[in-house]
Amino acid sequence: MAVSQNNWPVVSRSACDEGPFEGIQFPNGILAGDVAYVMRWHLRRYRQTVEPIVNGTCWGWNAKRISGSDDWSNHASGTAWDINAPQHPMGPPVRTNMSQREIDACHALEAESGHVIRWGGDFSRPDPMHWEIRGSRSQVAALARKIREGEADMTQDEMLDALESPRGRAALRSALVELAYGPADNRESIAGRIGNIDAKIDGVSAGVALLVNAIPPPESNPAEFDAGKPDQFEADRPHGSNEPHQESPV
Ligand SMILES: [Zn+2]
Repeated sequence: MAVSQNNWPVVSRSACDEGPFEGIQFPNGILAGDVAYVMRWHLRRYRQTVEPIVNGTCWGWNAKRISGSDDWSNHASGTAWDINAPQHPMGPPVRTNMSQREIDACHALEAESGHVIRWGGDFSRPDPMHWEIRGSRSQVAALARKIREGEADMTQDEMLDALESPRGRAALRSALVELAYGPADNRESIAGRIGNIDAKIDGVSAGVALLVNAIPPPESNPAEFDAGKPDQFEADRPHGSNEPHQESPV
């Protein structure tokens, strides 16, 4: 099996999640699953700590060889992505417009990922637009778990703040519609699924989970849930819902 330079299998485009990623197009996408999840986290942190990301100047999967070599590029395994390409062309010479502060922030991001993600700016042929997975499949899975747990550690206030964003509100609306009209047995998966589809910002999926879990399932014994909580969500329920809130204890 052909592998790319970082030892991940070369894949076809159909193996990729085509995004968008944090609102940005990465043409052809990124390997679906943990890699795409970790990459989205990286984009959030990049925006927060390095610079804004410009749509239309980023690149994802590409079945190409490393230039001047027979080795498959990590773009061919869907484990590399290029950010703001025109601002940070491959060198030498290094022509990136990054300040020293931004370069330091790139190094800090590598460290924050536990060096599971590597920046191309330090390559022998500097490629400062380029980011890639350096770790193994299990290391990427461990980083994804750590990111999810970080969300789970948020306070309720932090999660509720995240839900105030437009995407947070959209995710919450989707979850509530599924709760009201979806099959009764899908409750457990609602928060995770909505979080994966609609809510790629810190805290939103955790916030949705918090609220989904706070709403009593239809079959529950009303005496078992905290009567003080559901009332605050009543206004968000879709009209026409026949969820059992009318039966809530008063
Ligand atoms: Zn690249």
